[in-house]
Amino acid sequence: MARLDILAYPDPRLRMKALPVREFDDALARLIDDLFETLYAARGIGLAATQVNVQLQLIVIDVSEDRSKPEVFINPQILARDQIGLVEESCLSVPGIVENVARATALTVRAVDRRGTPYMRDLDGLLAVCLQHEIDHLDGTLFVDRLPFFKRLRTRRRLERGGRAYQAAA
Ligand code: ZN
Repeated sequence: MARLDILAYPDPRLRMKALPVREFDDALARLIDDLFETLYAARGIGLAATQVNVQLQLIVIDVSEDRSKPEVFINPQILARDQIGLVEESCLSVPGIVENVARATALTVRAVDRRGTPYMRDLDGLLAVCLQHEIDHLDGTLFVDRLPFFKRLRTRRRLERGGRAYQAAA
Protein backbone atom coordinates (compact mmCIF):
# COMPACT_ATOMS: atom_id res chain seq x y z
CA MET A 1 0.00 0.00 0.00
CA ALA A 2 1.06 3.56 -0.53
CA ARG A 3 0.03 6.93 0.72
CA LEU A 4 -0.93 9.27 -2.13
CA ASP A 5 -0.53 13.05 -2.38
CA ILE A 6 -3.78 14.96 -1.98
CA LEU A 7 -4.24 17.89 -4.39
CA ALA A 8 -5.00 21.22 -2.75
CA TYR A 9 -7.08 24.22 -3.87
CA PRO A 10 -6.60 25.98 -6.30
CA ASP A 11 -4.95 23.11 -8.23
CA PRO A 12 -6.75 23.01 -11.62
CA ARG A 13 -6.65 19.20 -11.61
CA LEU A 14 -9.35 19.33 -8.92
CA ARG A 15 -11.61 20.68 -11.68
CA MET A 16 -11.27 17.65 -13.96
CA LYS A 17 -14.23 15.36 -14.55
CA ALA A 18 -13.74 11.71 -13.63
CA LEU A 19 -14.46 8.89 -16.08
CA PRO A 20 -16.42 5.73 -15.26
CA VAL A 21 -14.40 2.76 -14.00
CA ARG A 22 -14.48 -0.05 -16.60
CA GLU A 23 -11.76 -2.45 -15.42
CA PHE A 24 -12.19 -4.23 -12.09
CA ASP A 25 -8.67 -5.60 -11.89
CA ASP A 26 -5.75 -5.79 -9.46
CA ALA A 27 -4.72 -2.23 -10.28
CA LEU A 28 -8.14 -0.98 -9.17
CA ALA A 29 -7.95 -3.05 -5.96
CA ARG A 30 -4.53 -1.53 -5.21
CA LEU A 31 -5.81 1.97 -5.90
CA ILE A 32 -8.74 1.42 -3.49
CA ASP A 33 -6.35 0.22 -0.78
CA ASP A 34 -4.10 3.24 -1.36
CA LEU A 35 -7.08 5.61 -1.17
CA PHE A 36 -8.07 4.16 2.21
CA GLU A 37 -4.50 4.40 3.50
CA THR A 38 -4.37 8.04 2.35
CA LEU A 39 -7.80 8.80 3.84
CA TYR A 40 -6.94 7.33 7.24
CA ALA A 41 -3.51 9.00 7.34
CA ALA A 42 -5.14 12.37 6.58
CA ARG A 43 -7.81 11.77 9.28
CA GLY A 44 -10.52 12.36 6.72
CA ILE A 45 -13.92 10.71 6.36
CA GLY A 46 -14.07 10.57 2.57
CA LEU A 47 -11.76 10.76 -0.43
CA ALA A 48 -12.49 10.90 -4.16
CA ALA A 49 -9.94 9.61 -6.70
CA THR A 50 -9.96 13.11 -8.25
CA GLN A 51 -8.27 14.40 -5.06
CA VAL A 52 -5.22 12.20 -5.74
CA ASN A 53 -5.13 13.10 -9.44
CA VAL A 54 -6.80 9.93 -10.71
CA GLN A 55 -9.72 10.77 -13.00
CA LEU A 56 -11.91 7.78 -12.19
CA GLN A 57 -15.37 7.69 -10.61
CA LEU A 58 -14.14 6.10 -7.41
CA ILE A 59 -14.84 7.17 -3.82
CA VAL A 60 -13.83 5.75 -0.46
CA ILE A 61 -15.61 6.74 2.75
CA ASP A 62 -15.40 5.75 6.40
CA VAL A 63 -17.52 7.83 8.77
CA SER A 64 -17.11 5.47 11.75
CA GLU A 65 -15.25 6.69 14.85
CA ASP A 66 -12.98 3.64 14.97
CA ARG A 67 -12.31 3.42 11.21
CA SER A 68 -14.11 0.08 10.98
CA LYS A 69 -16.62 0.76 8.18
CA PRO A 70 -14.79 1.26 4.89
CA GLU A 71 -17.25 1.95 2.05
CA VAL A 72 -16.44 1.95 -1.67
CA PHE A 73 -18.60 3.73 -4.24
CA ILE A 74 -17.68 3.22 -7.90
CA ASN A 75 -19.52 4.99 -10.76
CA PRO A 76 -22.07 6.34 -8.24
CA GLN A 77 -25.35 7.93 -9.29
CA ILE A 78 -27.79 9.53 -6.88
CA LEU A 79 -31.31 8.41 -7.81
CA ALA A 80 -33.29 10.29 -5.14
CA ARG A 81 -32.60 12.98 -2.53
CA ASP A 82 -34.62 13.90 0.53
CA GLN A 83 -34.51 16.04 3.69
CA ILE A 84 -32.35 18.97 2.60
CA GLY A 85 -30.53 20.62 5.48
CA LEU A 86 -27.51 22.80 6.21
CA VAL A 87 -24.54 20.66 7.15
CA GLU A 88 -21.07 21.75 8.28
CA GLU A 89 -18.38 20.57 5.86
CA SER A 90 -14.67 20.76 5.31
CA CYS A 91 -12.40 19.24 2.68
CA LEU A 92 -8.94 17.67 2.64
CA SER A 93 -8.28 19.63 -0.57
CA VAL A 94 -9.43 22.97 0.89
CA PRO A 95 -7.61 23.11 4.23
CA GLY A 96 -8.74 25.59 6.84
CA ILE A 97 -12.28 26.20 5.63
CA VAL A 98 -15.38 24.95 7.45
CA GLU A 99 -18.75 26.11 6.12
CA ASN A 100 -22.39 25.08 6.08
CA VAL A 101 -23.60 23.57 2.80
CA ALA A 102 -27.16 22.66 1.80
CA ARG A 103 -27.30 18.89 1.28
CA ALA A 104 -29.80 16.07 1.22
CA THR A 105 -29.50 14.12 4.45
CA ALA A 106 -31.17 11.07 2.95
CA LEU A 107 -30.66 9.62 -0.51
CA THR A 108 -30.72 6.57 -2.72
CA VAL A 109 -27.54 5.75 -4.61
CA ARG A 110 -26.76 3.28 -7.37
CA ALA A 111 -23.10 2.27 -7.61
CA VAL A 112 -20.77 -0.66 -8.23
CA ASP A 113 -18.63 -2.44 -5.64
CA ARG A 114 -14.91 -3.23 -5.94
CA ARG A 115 -15.63 -6.49 -7.76
CA GLY A 116 -17.83 -4.76 -10.34
CA THR A 117 -21.19 -5.85 -8.90
CA PRO A 118 -23.91 -3.18 -9.12
CA TYR A 119 -25.93 -2.34 -6.01
CA MET A 120 -28.48 0.17 -4.74
CA ARG A 121 -28.51 1.58 -1.21
CA ASP A 122 -30.44 4.07 0.89
CA LEU A 123 -28.09 6.26 2.92
CA ASP A 124 -28.70 8.92 5.54
CA GLY A 125 -26.88 11.23 7.92
CA LEU A 126 -23.16 11.88 7.63
CA LEU A 127 -22.63 9.06 5.10
CA ALA A 128 -25.22 10.57 2.73
CA VAL A 129 -23.72 14.06 3.09
CA CYS A 130 -20.17 12.82 2.62
CA LEU A 131 -21.12 10.89 -0.52
CA GLN A 132 -22.59 14.05 -2.12
CA HIS A 133 -19.39 15.96 -1.27
CA GLU A 134 -17.28 13.24 -2.90
CA ILE A 135 -19.49 12.93 -5.99
CA ASP A 136 -19.03 16.70 -6.40
CA HIS A 137 -15.26 16.05 -6.52
CA LEU A 138 -15.79 13.58 -9.39
CA ASP A 139 -17.57 16.40 -11.25
CA GLY A 140 -14.79 18.90 -10.54
CA THR A 141 -16.88 20.77 -7.96
CA LEU A 142 -15.67 21.83 -4.50
CA PHE A 143 -17.93 22.44 -1.51
CA VAL A 144 -16.91 26.10 -1.44
CA ASP A 145 -18.48 26.44 -4.93
CA ARG A 146 -21.83 25.69 -3.31
CA LEU A 147 -21.71 28.58 -0.84
CA PRO A 148 -23.80 31.73 -1.36
CA PHE A 149 -22.03 34.43 -3.39
CA PHE A 150 -20.73 36.70 -0.61
CA LYS A 151 -19.64 33.80 1.53
CA ARG A 152 -17.83 32.36 -1.48
CA LEU A 153 -16.01 35.65 -1.99
CA ARG A 154 -14.98 35.80 1.66
CA THR A 155 -13.90 32.16 1.60
CA ARG A 156 -11.77 32.73 -1.49
CA ARG A 157 -9.98 35.64 0.20
CA ARG A 158 -9.37 33.50 3.24
CA LEU A 159 -7.96 30.73 1.03
CA GLU A 160 -5.67 33.17 -0.76
CA ARG A 161 -4.28 34.28 2.58
CA GLY A 162 -3.73 30.65 3.55
CA GLY A 163 -5.98 28.95 6.07
CA ARG A 164 -5.41 27.04 9.26
CA ALA A 165 -5.60 23.28 9.13
CA TYR A 166 -8.70 21.53 10.39
CA GLN A 167 -9.31 17.83 10.73
CA ALA A 168 -12.36 15.67 9.91
CA ALA A 169 -12.30 16.70 6.31
CA ALA A 170 -13.40 14.94 3.17
ZN1 ZN B 1 -13.42 17.22 -0.35
